[in-house]
This record gives sequence, structure tokens and C-alpha cells, in this order.
Amino acid sequence: MGKNSQIPQYHSTVELTEGCSGCEIPIRECWACRHCLRWRRKGVSEVEVIAKFRRPELHLERLAEALRWGPPTAKEQAEKPWMPKDRRYIFVSSRGDAFDRQLPHSWLTNIATPALQEESVQRSVLARIESSPHVYIFCTKQPENMPDIVWPSNVILLVSVTDQKTANWCIPALLLHGRGAMALGVSAEPMREKIDLREYLSNECSRSKPGSQKLGWVIAGQGRGVKGWPYSQEWAAKLQDQCAINGNLFFDKDNERGLRQIPGGEK
Ligand code: SF4
Repeated sequence: MGKNSQIPQYHSTVELTEGCSGCEIPIRECWACRHCLRWRRKGVSEVEVIAKFRRPELHLERLAEALRWGPPTAKEQAEKPWMPKDRRYIFVSSRGDAFDRQLPHSWLTNIATPALQEESVQRSVLARIESSPHVYIFCTKQPENMPDIVWPSNVILLVSVTDQKTANWCIPALLLHGRGAMALGVSAEPMREKIDLREYLSNECSRSKPGSQKLGWVIAGQGRGVKGWPYSQEWAAKLQDQCAINGNLFFDKDNERGLRQIPGGEK
């Protein structure tokens, strides 16, 4: 959890959930798991940290601190000039998957969560997010577990994909479950092959339900990569071209001088 995040496309992170069941990325190569390993306590083995990471937990009490944060400071604005200046963009659960299948399905919408009982009026995590001036970003590889709701207009929903197969699996589920959100997008990082998103970026996306949103934002990058996975800067360039043709926002994560567009920011 941090008010000042190193992630270029967000100001801050809040870890309302931590941990993940796993995905196609080997667990020791997962950035979130590596982060937990880096901070393991003395006497706790690597095997124990990984086993704990594989059992995701809720930490809803951490939302209270994030709600107290103000808009981006002048220093933050100078450090990330591509970000909107008036609203803080907070990434939820950078150390795991917020919609992991092991987490209670209703953790966002349940009004009876203990962490909320400090308030005189009980409200769900989602209701507190909705009344906050900040923008909250969720990114998942398990969009099928997203609650089937109309999302607040200050929430951005992303799916994380690494190849064409994961894109074809995750994006239709995102389009199905993402009603009402400020924007829907794809984080293609790390990529292990060239990905074609044209079908999902066009206004005529056949996978969208009538009246639903289309994909609006693509983030691309190698990140810290995965050992043994190839990467070509050309793959990111191709995604940028696909976005340009369809009028979608593109964020080049690896290149500070590249295109860095943010939903809600200047285009
Ligand atoms: S889904 Fe994300 S957090 Fe979970 S193992 Fe894969 S990379 Fe790590």
C-alpha cells in the first residue's frame, strides 16, 4: 500500500486484497509474489511466503487511509505529467488478484464487513469508493468473478493478458461484466507473443452486448518480463497502431517519451 506508487499509470496503490491462486506466469516470476518474497520476515521461508500468497486474503480496513488522501500534489503532478491533475488514480490490489476465485464473491458489495463497522452507517466498500473523489482501478485475470453490477463511474476495470489466448478469454468476460465503469481496458504486460486486439477495439465489437461499452484503453509493456519469454518492442507498437485506428487510448509503460494516455486525462 502506498500513496506514492512507482507504477507509472497510477498515483497510488491500496491492497484491499493480497495474494492470488496463480496464472500462466510461473509463481516465482509473478511481480506480486516476488514483492511479497522481498519483504518476507526473518525466519519465514520462501516456501511459506509462496503458500501464503496462494491463499488470498482481504484487508478492507486499508481503504480508510486511501479515502483520506487528497488530490495529486504538485510534486506528484511534476513526476507523472501524463496523469490527470485533479484526481488521484488508485490501483486496488497490486499484490494479487482482487477477483480471485478464493475470495468471497461479495467482498466489494457486502455491507456487513467488519472493517466498515466503525462508521455509523454501514456501507459496502463499493459504496465508499463511489462517494470518493478518487479514481479506482481494478485489474484481473479472473473477470468471470467480477460482481455483476453497474459499476460506479469512478472505477476503471482492466484485464491482464499475456497472449492471444488469454486476451480471447478475458476480454469478452470484461465486456460482459463491466457495465457503467469509467473505462474498460487491457493491460498487456508482460506479453509473450504479438496480440491482435482489433476485434475488441472497434465500435462494432461483436463480443459486446448491445449498449455495453467497448474496450477503451490498452497498456503495453515488457515490465520486468518473465524468464525465457521472448519480447519485442514491435508488439507494443502494433497495439499502439490498433488503438490509433480505432480512437482508443494507449499507454506505453516502458517508454516515458512514448504515448501515455489515461482515461479521464487529456487525449
Ligand atoms: S494473476 Fe497476477 S498476481 Fe496472480 S499469479 Fe498471475 S501475475 Fe501473479
